[in-house]
Amino acid sequence: MKPLSVVSERLSQDQSDQSKKCPIIAIDGPAGSGKSITAYLLAKKLNYLYLDTGAMYRALTLKAIKNKVNTYDAQAMADLVGQTKISLKIGSTQGTRVFIDGKEVSSEIRSPLVSRYVSQVSTIKEVREYLVSLQRKIGSKGEVVAEGRDIGTVVFPEATVKIFLTANLEERINRRWRQLREKVGSLSRREIEANLRQRDLIDSQREISPLKKAPQAITVDNTRLNISQTVEKIRQIVQKALWKTGYSSEK
Ligand code: C5P
Repeated sequence: MKPLSVVSERLSQDQSDQSKKCPIIAIDGPAGSGKSITAYLLAKKLNYLYLDTGAMYRALTLKAIKNKVNTYDAQAMADLVGQTKISLKIGSTQGTRVFIDGKEVSSEIRSPLVSRYVSQVSTIKEVREYLVSLQRKIGSKGEVVAEGRDIGTVVFPEATVKIFLTANLEERINRRWRQLREKVGSLSRREIEANLRQRDLIDSQREISPLKKAPQAITVDNTRLNISQTVEKIRQIVQKALWKTGYSSEK
């Protein structure tokens, strides 16, 4: 997988047009649908860049919590954005490593506390403008698998392939529970369900860039698929699409 080290800076211009040149794979979907691991493994197979946009929203949320910034105060959050540098490092053996102002926060951003506030933070216009411009900058050269909530609708509307990855709520709760049980140890199923429901509600009902299926997106329901089956299914869709555009997915 391609290495990446990007320091966040405001873009002076919208670079999304450049995304037309090389393939961009957009994967959107609700919390717990397996977007991160699927996108990561797919990127590895294709030797593309993996872009975890949720990690960016989580990083900013963590900084707000640490600095005791009221996440409901849009102006205070906008000010925080102006004072923050987010960096991502992506390697082939680990997922995304995330740094805020030079300090690694890769584990901390996955905490239940961050999960509780992140969807609120993600409703703020200035936050989205800043992170979307950063995401476009990272993906501007193409050959990227980007995952999040608004990738196919807003960040890369010209994406070559758009996938809407979903699974039923029960299965998504189970997955998150298994994931968190290993890391945190003490979250109840009920708490996980409440968080997933709350995030899906805020994410899909917010005014700016709500979570929704892009018109051209292909829905992949992986309720009954394991990770490798999910990756393989999407890889086949991607391969077909790339073949049509004359781009080779084999490297
Ligand atoms: O993907 P992940 O669950 O880590 O994302 C955390 C949160 O970040 C989401 O619940 C959503 O509120 C926000 N997000 C977003 N737009 C994206 C990616 C994530 O609003 N493209």
